[in-house]
Amino acid sequence: MASRRHPPISATTRLTAVFGDPVEHSMSPLMHNAAYEALGLDRRYVAFHVTAEMLIAALRGVAALGILGVNLTVPHKERAMRAMDEVSSEARMLGAINCVVNRRGRLIGDNTDARGFERDLRALNVGVSGQAVLMAGAGGAAAAAALAMTRLGARTVVIANRTSERARRLARRMSRITGGRTDFRWRALDALIDPDLLGRVACVINATSMGLTTRRFAPLDYSATPYDCVFYDMLYSRAPTPFIQGAMRAGRRAADGAGMLAEQGDLAFRLFNGVAAPPGLMRRTLMRALGRG
Ligand code: NDP
Repeated sequence: MASRRHPPISATTRLTAVFGDPVEHSMSPLMHNAAYEALGLDRRYVAFHVTAEMLIAALRGVAALGILGVNLTVPHKERAMRAMDEVSSEARMLGAINCVVNRRGRLIGDNTDARGFERDLRALNVGVSGQAVLMAGAGGAAAAAALAMTRLGARTVVIANRTSERARRLARRMSRITGGRTDFRWRALDALIDPDLLGRVACVINATSMGLTTRRFAPLDYSATPYDCVFYDMLYSRAPTPFIQGAMRAGRRAADGAGMLAEQGDLAFRLFNGVAAPPGLMRRTLMRALGRG
C-alpha cells in the first residue's frame, strides 16, 4: 500500500524505467518504487519490454517523453552506445551501458556494474587484495568483475571461458585498461578443474550465464580450493544457483548476485533522481522479495 506521503499517479508524475528483452522477471521496479515511496517522491519506476530492433527508437522516446533515466539489461548494453550524446569513462572502458541518464534531453550513458559488484564484495567482507582470483566468463559482466578485481587489489585474475579466444581478448583489454596493476591471464573452462590453480585462489566468480540458460554449471572441483575461498555467482535467484549449490556442498562461503543488483539499484537511483535512496532500503526490499528475511 502507498504511504501517506507518496503522491498517487497524476499529471505531474515522472518516470524512470528498465528496458530489456525479456524484462518481466526484473526486480528493479520493486526496489526503486520502494525508495520513491519511502521518500514520498512523485515518481514511478516501470519495466518496458523493448526488443533489440526497437532499442534506438525507445531511447529516443526517453528524451522525448522526459523519462528521467533508464536501466538497460540484456540484450541492450552494447548496442545502446550509439544512441548516447555522452558516455562516461567507465562505460567506455567496459564497452557497455547499463544506465542512461536524461539530462535536459541529452542522454548520458554510464555503467554501474563494476561499482555495484565492488560495493557488494566490500559489504560481504570479501578481500582479494594481493590474491589470485578465478573468473568464468568473458562477456560484459566479466569485464565489470575484472575491473572491480583490480580496484580491490587482486594480484592475478585468471579468466576462463568456453570460447578461450574471447577470454584472451578480455584479458588483454583489461591489462591495457588497468595499466598492468593486475596480472590478467586466460584459459579455457578446464581451468575450473585444475587443482594447481584452484589450490591458490581466494575467490571464484561465475560471470557466465550458465545456471540461467542451463540448469547446471560447468565441471568445477570445489574441494580443491582453500577452505576460506569465496564463491560468487553474478546470477541470482530465489533458490541457490547450481554454482552456489556446489560451493555449499563443499562447505565453502558463497554469495549470489542479488547484493550486486541492490548496490547497482542504489547507484542508479542516485544518478536518475539526484538524491540517494534510504540506506539499505533497496537491498532489504530485494532480499525480502527473494524470500531471504
Ligand atoms: P554475455 O552474453 O556478455 O556473456 C555470457 C557469458 O556466458 C560468456 O562468457 C559465454 O561464453 C558464457 N556462456 C553462456 N552460455 C554458456 C554455456 N552453455 N557454457 C559455457 N559458457 C557459457 O552476458 P553478460 O556478461 O552480460 O552476463 C553474464 C551473467 O551475469 C548473466 O547471467 C547476467 O544475468 C549476470 N549479471 C548479473 C548482474 C547483477 O547485477 N547481479 C549484472 C550483470 C550481469 P562464450 O563467450 O563462450 O559464449
